[in-house]
Amino acid sequence: MFKLSKKVQALPPYLFLEIDKAKRQARHEGRDIIDLGIGDPDQPTAKFIIEALYRASQDSANHRYALDQGMPVLRRAIQGWYKRRFNVDLNSDTEILPLIGSKEGIAHFPLAFLNHGDISLVPDPCYPPYKGGTILAAGRPYIMPLLESNHFLPDLEKVTLSARKKAKVIFINYPNNPTSACASDDFYRQLIEFSVRNKIIIISDLAYSEMAYDGYKPRSLLEFSGAREIVVEFHSLSKTYNMTGWRIGWASGNSQLISALAKVKSNIDSGIFSAIQLAGVAAIDGPQDYLKSMCEIYQERRDILVDGLCALGWNAIRSKATFYVWIKIPTKSDSIKFAARLLKESDIVVTPGVGFGKYGEGYIRMALTVSKERIKEALERIKKIF
Ligand SMILES: *Cc1c(COP(=O)(O)O)cnc(C)c1O
Repeated sequence: MFKLSKKVQALPPYLFLEIDKAKRQARHEGRDIIDLGIGDPDQPTAKFIIEALYRASQDSANHRYALDQGMPVLRRAIQGWYKRRFNVDLNSDTEILPLIGSKEGIAHFPLAFLNHGDISLVPDPCYPPYKGGTILAAGRPYIMPLLESNHFLPDLEKVTLSARKKAKVIFINYPNNPTSACASDDFYRQLIEFSVRNKIIIISDLAYSEMAYDGYKPRSLLEFSGAREIVVEFHSLSKTYNMTGWRIGWASGNSQLISALAKVKSNIDSGIFSAIQLAGVAAIDGPQDYLKSMCEIYQERRDILVDGLCALGWNAIRSKATFYVWIKIPTKSDSIKFAARLLKESDIVVTPGVGFGKYGEGYIRMALTVSKERIKEALERIKKIF
């Protein structure tokens, strides 16, 4: 009876109906599922953060509408974090905007700059809101393939001249979900040069900046010269502090870009619950030493999984960052069929690469979000069928 808008009709289809159904069925049958599909930390939020929420929630001043632009104390905490972490000085009033999770800001940002038919340059495979946010803003995603032969970096030289002309934004995400690739300084310099030359806004998603191993420290684009004019960076407390369900993140960067996003958002939401903002301050300003042991846990899981898969002759990438392992499918199967087979024959859930875009076909993603004992068990099960 009701017809969906053209924009909603144009959203990429949801490809996992069959697998979701099989997963529900397996759970229903009481099978012992090992779920490597979910990009959600298995560790709880630190106790001192929960206590900060509890205290703040007792104060009735926090029960009212929050400020759209976020509490000054949160923006100053983010400013301090940026200075400590990247040695970048940001203005906490004009260059930082708290968000209801970074996904919210990423999906809304194209509304501020795209007109009907404008292009956003989108890596493929990618985190789905890059395409979704573009389409909901009446824009068109222009696909930049992320290929193993180019270290899963987009080849900017291959973007056509007409796409460069119509492009308003480019999405970049390193450390990357789903490929776990990291960007080199050279790539970032090239990207800034390309974007300045073509007047394209860089949207850099840094959700995994603190989840890195082997001594690697991901950099902020804002550390690079020239970036201040054209970059908006999205950060999240979700993965860094095990706070995915809390819904808090932020955008930082060029003040014109920040204020445009704030203007869009002022028509859509009314800020983050103040008690959650104060818990966010506790997380950012509190002790950070437990982050190191968290990374050690992921690193150990990564090594067990990658070593185990490589011993089977699989091509699994040992990345310096993120809690994902991106794996080339060892058979001729496509990614959905392969994931369905792993579920059916070994009760293991993985994410088919094609769910992140067509260039994800041929791969699966495993998340390091279960204990090492469960990872070992998964490897034993895989050994039995391959
Ligand atoms: C998890 C994730 C986010 C974080 O989203 P929130 O909305 O802050 O929870 C952002 N980008 C990527 C690529 C992610 O994987």
